[in-house]
Amino acid sequence: MGMNVSRQLKYYFKAFTLAELRKGMAVTGRYFFRRKVTVQYPEQKTPISPRFRGHHALRRYPNGEERCIACKLCEAVCPALAIKIELQERPDGTRRTTRYDIDMFKCIYCGFCEEACPVDAIVETDIFEYHFENRGENIMTKDRLLTMGDRYEARIERMKAADAPYR
Ligand code: SF4
Ligand code: SF4
Repeated sequence: MGMNVSRQLKYYFKAFTLAELRKGMAVTGRYFFRRKVTVQYPEQKTPISPRFRGHHALRRYPNGEERCIACKLCEAVCPALAIKIELQERPDGTRRTTRYDIDMFKCIYCGFCEEACPVDAIVETDIFEYHFENRGENIMTKDRLLTMGDRYEARIERMKAADAPYR
C-alpha cells in the first residue's frame, strides 16, 4: 500500500514538473545542432556501392551492331530462370536473338548473367529508380533492354572503367 502511494506521488511530481517533456525536449535539443543525416531525395542522393547491381541493359558495339551473339550462357547460368532467349541464324552465319526477355520479378540481381557473358552484352547498371505500372511490364524485352543500353552507354563505360568487382 505504502509502495503504491510513493509511486503515485512520484507520478504526480513528474507530471507537475513536466519531467518527461523536458527529457524529450533535451533529446530534441541535443540533435538539433548535430549534422543531419536526412537527405532530400530525389534532389539529394546517398552514395551507392560500386558493386550495386540494378536495371539490366543490352549493349551495342560503337557501329550499332548488337553485342549479344545468342550463346545463351546467361540464360543457362541464371539461378532464377529469369531469362528467356530465342534465336535465329543470319544468312552470314552469325547468331542473334529474336527474343531476349528478363522477368524482373524473378531476377535476384545476382550479376551472374553479366559475369557469364563473353561479349559484355548484358550488363547490370547502377540504375535503381524504376517502377512498373501495368501488368506485364516486369518483362524486360530485348527492345527495352537495348534502349537502356543505348541511353546509358556512356554511364556503363564509366562503370566498367572504374573496375568495380562485378563490372
Ligand atoms: S542478375 Fe542473376 S537472377 Fe537476374 S537475370 Fe541475371 S543471372 Fe538471372
Ligand atoms: S547476353 Fe551474352 S551471355 Fe547472354 S546470350 Fe547474349 S552473348 Fe550470350
